[in-house]
Amino acid sequence: MAVPFIDLQRFEPGFLDRWAEICRRLSVNTQFVGGEAVRGFEQRLAERLEVAAVVGCANGTDALQLALRAMEIGAGDAVIIPDATFWATFEAVVNVGARVITVDIDPADQQLDADLLARAIERHRPKAVILVHLYGWGSARLDEIRGLCRTQGVGLLEDGAQAMDVAWRGAPIFRDADLATLSFYPAKVLGACGDAGAVLCRDPARAETVRRLGNHGRSRHYQHGLVGWNSRMGAFDAAYLDLALDHLTARLEHRRRLAAAYRERLRTLGVVSAEPPAGYVENGYLNVCLIEPARRASVEAMLRVRGIGFGNVYPGAMSQQPAAGRHLEAQLGGQHARHLAASVLNLPLFAGMTDAELDEVIDGMHAAMRGIHLDFSVSGKVSP
Ligand SMILES: *Cc1c(COP(=O)(O)O)cnc(C)c1O
Repeated sequence: MAVPFIDLQRFEPGFLDRWAEICRRLSVNTQFVGGEAVRGFEQRLAERLEVAAVVGCANGTDALQLALRAMEIGAGDAVIIPDATFWATFEAVVNVGARVITVDIDPADQQLDADLLARAIERHRPKAVILVHLYGWGSARLDEIRGLCRTQGVGLLEDGAQAMDVAWRGAPIFRDADLATLSFYPAKVLGACGDAGAVLCRDPARAETVRRLGNHGRSRHYQHGLVGWNSRMGAFDAAYLDLALDHLTARLEHRRRLAAAYRERLRTLGVVSAEPPAGYVENGYLNVCLIEPARRASVEAMLRVRGIGFGNVYPGAMSQQPAAGRHLEAQLGGQHARHLAASVLNLPLFAGMTDAELDEVIDGMHAAMRGIHLDFSVSGKVSP
């Protein structure tokens, strides 16, 4: 049985009927951009995440750019990002005219290294830091990082594209964030029916700036107090997200169960999985296997033969990307980010995945690991 890396078609019973009904209503109503559907979703999300204000926008990359612009980051500024993230984090900094400082990750939790961050702030005096909550959890030293940025007078933006509904010390992770962003790309844990994103703000005045920036800098319909651009959320996306929210708690429970089952069953095969530090409840966004780099290709080959989908999130560090060089102000470390990129293997994990599919993936991994042990013991290179 083939198992896809992700399948977005596993709708709950009744979901598509409700969606069809909503589409009909929105089509008759014709308020396609912004409007009540967007405001309603923003409000509901703000309550769920315990944040003061949510501003919907076109996608997660725009959310980062809107937030950076609202922090008045621009030409001549430098912004720290972790060396292990999605390229959008890097792009957002460059697209607002600033330069990038990459800081290595801590191999204990795969997140920005807090000690190296402190050194980077001291040495380079950046205007802001983007902390990325990678893989469905966050840094073990999150409170310390927030405190450090506050006492150093450095803006902190939290890229939460992968952290929807993650809990930290018993509360939503975004509750104590000054500024954070979400992506609703369809493959994220809360996905829209197209591209969408949001900026989460503690300060309502800043939320208003973000909203204006994403709506041509409007102060009135044809009066423009700022130079922004168009990054408004569509009504269909908002309505789809609102419907998905009805099912999100159940979907995340299922994801978390799969993530835990993977860890336990892979451990018996000798496969190491990354896991959230104490204090976190993960959202089950990804399974993260850490395979010895020299062995990863043969594991992948076995999965391919069996028709089992997999991912490498992400296969390269930011500072290694061909386009990175001329935008880099500085690079602190990077060996842990590069090692993670060479080791990471993500197995299928999605809402609606069946137990039979999980068994099939585990069987595939079993075969892959057995093949490796035979291989290495025959060639005598590594004792199994
Ligand atoms: C998905 C993602 C983004 C970008 O979001 P889009 O909606 O695809 O623009 C940014 N940062 C991280 C960490 C992501 O995973």
